[in-house]
Amino acid sequence: MLKEISLFLESINDAIIVIDQKGIIIQCNKMLENILGYTPEEVIGKNIGVLMENEMSANHNTYLNSDDKHIRVLGKERVILGVHKDGTNVRLLINLSQFEDHEQTYYTGILRNFTNEVNNSDAAERNKELEEELRKKDLQIEQTISDLYSLYLNAKKAEEQELRDKNKKLESAIKELNENKTKLEHEIFEKKIAEDRLLIIQDEIKAALEKEKELNDLKSKFISIASHEFRTPLTTILSSTNLIGRYLPPDVLVKTEKHINRIISSVRNLTQILEDFLSLTKFDEGKINTQMQELNIIDLIKVCIEEVNVFSKKDQEFIFKNNIENPIIVSNIQSLKNVFINLLSNAVKYSFEGSKIYIHIYNDDETLYASVRDEGIGIPKNQKEYLFQRFFRADNAINIQGTGLGLFIVKKYLESLNGSINFESEEGKGTQFNISFKNEIEVPVT
Ligand code: ATP
Ligand code: MG
Repeated sequence: MLKEISLFLESINDAIIVIDQKGIIIQCNKMLENILGYTPEEVIGKNIGVLMENEMSANHNTYLNSDDKHIRVLGKERVILGVHKDGTNVRLLINLSQFEDHEQTYYTGILRNFTNEVNNSDAAERNKELEEELRKKDLQIEQTISDLYSLYLNAKKAEEQELRDKNKKLESAIKELNENKTKLEHEIFEKKIAEDRLLIIQDEIKAALEKEKELNDLKSKFISIASHEFRTPLTTILSSTNLIGRYLPPDVLVKTEKHINRIISSVRNLTQILEDFLSLTKFDEGKINTQMQELNIIDLIKVCIEEVNVFSKKDQEFIFKNNIENPIIVSNIQSLKNVFINLLSNAVKYSFEGSKIYIHIYNDDETLYASVRDEGIGIPKNQKEYLFQRFFRADNAINIQGTGLGLFIVKKYLESLNGSINFESEEGKGTQFNISFKNEIEVPVT
């Protein structure tokens, strides 16, 4: 009978192990070798723990020793982790049952290799998990797509808005540009009209200038003819008046001398005015005499003083000081005479009886410097800048005879002599004119 049982046990595909209450393997079939690598001889008499994971074996002992726990596991299939002889873990499906023999309790465990089944179920489980994961991923992807789409829509909206704004700006810029263009066209049109008007005015001015030039030419011609024509009779009047004065008996002369002198002074005045007008015409026509010659500058000044002294006021005194080693210079006599006579006659005219007039002359290598100072009425501060203008006369000189041409002519003459003029003056105290001109020593004497 035992033999049949043994054969039966060997015919079963599962490993069957019988243990006692202490966990000692009492019996097992050969299938154990297929599942865990041990032959029955190798494990019989050993604790069931050799076939299990440490933790499991500990638990197993506990199960066996704990009443309610081992009751719970009895008759139920469980998966436990067994240890193969080669040390690897093997999942085992175990079904425990118990039986009694002579008051001893034995436990029978039917073990089946569960690795594949477990794997299959694991795979199913995994598939499920994967499906779940996939589903979640799908959801995530859907969410992401929807998020992306709404992002795209927002971006598109913003872009469209930006485009609309840009268009608006562009439109207003174009509008502004068009307005500016119209404005500019208008301005160009107006400018054109103004230019045309300017051209017409220019033509008118040109015509007026030509007319004025013609008139000026005519005036100059008249002045120069008149001056020439006046000169001879004036010289005759002057010399005849002098002769009359000389031939008159002394008793008559006493009575008439005052009148004779008046005639002489007026004729000289008239002659000077004619000289000035003639000079002016010469300047305007560029016909100024620039001929240079050797002259004695001290003698020339003395002659001028004498000429002016004739019509000087009572007790006016000329004080002439010179610091010149060699008075022989090269210049234009007529121009210099004109300059000094004008300055000296101004000094006489615009100062008082008994006043002094100081003349000083000095030089350096090639330039001569002269000054004419008086103690007269002076020049008002606010009119100094106009002094050398043609026909200018200061307010405080209105009651003194003059045409306002003298200084203008003096300046022109000095410029023609490479010289210059300036002045210092205080109203009520006096005036000093300072001039300079070149000694043209290099110029060949003619
Ligand atoms: P003329 O043409 O007969 O010389 P004018 O003496 O008035 O006339 P300028 O010699 O050009 O003319 O002088 C211009 C003005 O300058 C004078 O009218 C006078 O107001 C002022 N002026 C010139 N010299 C003196 C001076 N020495 N003292 C004060 N004022 C002067
Ligand atoms: Mg003068």
